[in-house]
Amino acid sequence: MKAVRLKQKGLVAVDDIATPVPGEGEVLLRVLAAGVCRTDCHIRAHPFATPDGTTLGHEIAGEIAVVGPGVIGWQVGERAVVHPCWACHACPQCYAGRENYCQGHGAQRVPPPTPGVTRNGGMAEYAVVPASSLVSIGDLDPAFAAVLADAGLAPYHSVRLLRERLSPGSCALVIGLGGLGQYAVQLLKVMTPATVVAVDISDAALATARAVGADFTFRADGDDIVDQLREQSRGAGFAGIIDFVGSSQTLRLATSVVAPFGAIQAVGLSGGDIPFEAADISSIGLPWGVSLMKPYSGSYRDLADVIALARAGRLQANIELFPLDQAVAALDRLESGGMSGRAVLIPGM
Ligand SMILES: [Zn+2]
Ligand SMILES: [Zn+2]
Repeated sequence: MKAVRLKQKGLVAVDDIATPVPGEGEVLLRVLAAGVCRTDCHIRAHPFATPDGTTLGHEIAGEIAVVGPGVIGWQVGERAVVHPCWACHACPQCYAGRENYCQGHGAQRVPPPTPGVTRNGGMAEYAVVPASSLVSIGDLDPAFAAVLADAGLAPYHSVRLLRERLSPGSCALVIGLGGLGQYAVQLLKVMTPATVVAVDISDAALATARAVGADFTFRADGDDIVDQLREQSRGAGFAGIIDFVGSSQTLRLATSVVAPFGAIQAVGLSGGDIPFEAADISSIGLPWGVSLMKPYSGSYRDLADVIALARAGRLQANIELFPLDQAVAALDRLESGGMSGRAVLIPGM
């Protein structure tokens, strides 16, 4: 079969390899769609935890081709999306339904195995995955389902964790309107009564955010952005903020406009930092009661919920399809900023 593999640092190629065979508790999926993500660009440039020879692709939807030994509840021909946190299902976090914070696979800061990152992923004609990671998609477009496994799942998790704080009359802020940010805007509108404000440095991204439901948008690079946002929140600040950039600049913007007892979800991984001060000793002092969270992906239940929202027609897709053979071109386009929607690879297209 064809598979898109990390050959070595800086090099990804489409290879011919043997079709894998499912083991105990696994299924073989015929891949119908595999999303291309900025994370794949990062892995190509800085493989870090990804061994040479790994098949990329952590956003996978497919049809079951072979059911492995010991798998119950799934039949050949069923369509499903793959939850990207391959959790142990036997640790305290898993028991609590927080598979994305599974601690069964190593040290305190090691996430569970992830297809396309630390295990072979879905940018291939076939992929072996744990049956416990499957969420049924029925007749939902597999390309849409695939991107929801990451670009929908991570924002859903953050919005769910913010929901209690976003009461009627409150304001929510989304910083960074790439693939994940655009879904965050939609999910905040669907799941909360908050006024949704979005900031980015791209006018095109701001226009898309308005089209999918943002109530107000601002250019993040304006001189008076903090004043504009404070005014927009009528001085109260934002009860929930999701930062999909994670630079020192965006984290400071978040702390400057967060409301008392507000929460900041730092999702983006641009390498920024802010000092945490228990007392107010500098200008970066946080309002009382503020929470700062470092979320990772989402739980199995979160993915099931996102798929249910999509199947009910409550979310919009913005997707561009590529044949599997064009994976490297899709990665290059994404890396150079030439994609407005999500790129999805379709084997056999
Ligand atoms: Zn991704
Ligand atoms: Zn676990």
